[in-house]
Amino acid sequence: MKWRVGDTTITKITEIVFPEFSEVIPAATPEVVKKVQWLFPHFVTPEGKLTLSVHSLIVDTPTAKLVVDTCIGNDRNRDPLSVMSNLSTSYLEDMIAAGYRPESIDYVLCTHLHLDHVGWNTRLVDGKWVPTFPRAAYLFDKKELAFFGAIDENVQDDFAQVQRRVFADSVQPILDAGLAKPVEGATQVCDGVRLIPTPGHTPGHCSVLIESRGERALITGDFIHHPIQFHDPGLVSPFDVDNAAAVATRRRIFSEYADTPTLIIGTHFAGPTAGRLVRDGDGYRLDV
Ligand SMILES: [Zn+2]
Repeated sequence: MKWRVGDTTITKITEIVFPEFSEVIPAATPEVVKKVQWLFPHFVTPEGKLTLSVHSLIVDTPTAKLVVDTCIGNDRNRDPLSVMSNLSTSYLEDMIAAGYRPESIDYVLCTHLHLDHVGWNTRLVDGKWVPTFPRAAYLFDKKELAFFGAIDENVQDDFAQVQRRVFADSVQPILDAGLAKPVEGATQVCDGVRLIPTPGHTPGHCSVLIESRGERALITGDFIHHPIQFHDPGLVSPFDVDNAAAVATRRRIFSEYADTPTLIIGTHFAGPTAGRLVRDGDGYRLDV
């Protein structure tokens, strides 16, 4: 799947789709989902379960090639998150088949450092984690590095323990290889690509704004997990570090981009993945 924004193209490389992942927003029960008819058929199952996609977005500008978020990755023990554990997908082969060799990538942008956004930063070669994109500058927000780099080894929380392993195999090898470029908040990455702070899901969470020839696209990251949160920005996720800040970010960004031509590209939206945001009653709707 591909979109054009002025002279820039954006290509989706799908790693895995979870047809039913309603635990990401527990209050979005089938009864709630069924009241939001525009979610059918792309974003939910006929039974009203939330579908989530895990994909990278390759941004190809006239001057640089960027990968936004690097999914879960192969060969990693993520237990007890069994659905994300020990994957063996054709992600890298699919990226190459789409015309992007790892050596051709100039920048890797991680909207945040959760396990499903940093995995392919590295790959396992002869028992060692090495950078997948050997020529790239990997941009990490300093708040993310501080937060996820400081998880206590004795923490009594399964998800935090998984994130400790994630940091060790998907972030630390990039720091060790000297490819990391720590950034702070709003950052111009290259001509036509900017990071904008969208905190709440994690402390240093960023979204990616792409501009070319007067056209714009916004890659969300996880300040929104599922399009039902356009309908009701107050629907929260247990994976958010700060629910209230995440709600505030959604309300702020939605009001800024609603009824504009900006293409909104969801980091976990299934099916068509992108559309225009329009006001709809008290909330919003993604027009795909
Ligand atoms: Zn995610």
